Amino acid sequence: MTSKELQQRLFAVGQRIESAATQAGRPPHAVRLLAVSKTFGVEAVAQAVAAGQRAFGENYVQEGVEKIAQACALGLPPLEWHFIGPLQSNKTRPVAEHFDWVHSVDRLKIAQRLSEQRPEGLAPLRLLIQVNVDGEATKSGCAVDEVRALAQAVATLPRVQLRGLMCIPDPSRPAEQRRAPFKALAALLAELNAAGLALDTLSMGMSDDLDDAVAEGATIVRVGSAIFGARPPKAPAA
Ligand SMILES: *Cc1c(COP(=O)(O)O)cnc(C)c1O
Repeated sequence: MTSKELQQRLFAVGQRIESAATQAGRPPHAVRLLAVSKTFGVEAVAQAVAAGQRAFGENYVQEGVEKIAQACALGLPPLEWHFIGPLQSNKTRPVAEHFDWVHSVDRLKIAQRLSEQRPEGLAPLRLLIQVNVDGEATKSGCAVDEVRALAQAVATLPRVQLRGLMCIPDPSRPAEQRRAPFKALAALLAELNAAGLALDTLSMGMSDDLDDAVAEGATIVRVGSAIFGARPPKAPAA
């Protein structure tokens, strides 16, 4: 893709966010765009940076850490890196050392390790709890009825800062049910705040459903293919 094309696609996503926000009576700047660069090289990141994008999302630890180093080596301006993929406890250290946000915390052990491994010289790692809004045993994320206890426990950890919730609803659900999981996640955030937490982030919405997510209160949308184009069917072994 040329830089010009990528710039146009980025602009079009910005327009979608703005129109969904405006229709919902929300200020467009209340929604941040996270560009999901997984499977794309640092050249694609550099193109997006040239078009003004600063926050990027990665799903795979090794690929992400390498891309962060390459972006530094290229002399790109300081970027914000979000880890959004499934995280195993034996892979937390590089995430704690190189990323700014983690969207996929689903159990206390992961958050504890991230807190212990976050270097002292860095700002606290911002965390989101990934919630399993579909209730299927096979899906990743914390069960809805366990989120309250997990959030209270994560909020006490020293080197991390719990900021909110994230979800990835089942894309196969019928069109008329697509907003329900976003509404449910927003309600859960409000409930946690009523219980004394101070959470400001709802990470929800991707290329196909960001409009619904913004309508229901998303503050971060995670968008890959609408910006960078279609990904290869299976991720390369990083
Ligand atoms: C890949 C991915 C995205 C982006 O998906 P698109 O449909 O390409 O916009 C968002 N969130 C997560 C967790 C992802 O893995």
